[in-house]
Amino acid sequence: MKINDISLPLKGKCHCGSVKFEIKTNIQGLRRCNCSICSRKGFVMGTALIDELVITSGKEFLNTYKWNTKIAEHYFCKVCGINTHHKRRSDPNQYGYNIGCIEGFEMSWIENAPFVDNTKMSVIDNFKD
Ligand SMILES: [Zn+2]
Repeated sequence: MKINDISLPLKGKCHCGSVKFEIKTNIQGLRRCNCSICSRKGFVMGTALIDELVITSGKEFLNTYKWNTKIAEHYFCKVCGINTHHKRRSDPNQYGYNIGCIEGFEMSWIENAPFVDNTKMSVIDNFKD
């Protein structure tokens, strides 16, 4: 079994299972990021277009964290605290999602998740609305 042997839609859930989602596209665009929030989360992200990721249950358990420019939206489960996905500030037409949430995915399959230097995505000093 390899990354793209997982049948579509990909099925994802938070740790406690309160939040479930599906992704209509193959696993792609794996990356790590060093912005101030991703550094703390530390997970490897996959990439999906906004309309390719659908919350199938537990929307009411999702909380959103916005900060600084308020463009990125970081979603996490209120019960278990796991970050499931986020709308990207670098491209608000995309979600980054937590690859560790995907059913059947093995973390050991990650051979190459390029490190994206997004320190500029960290807190912006003197940001003006
Ligand atoms: Zn949860």
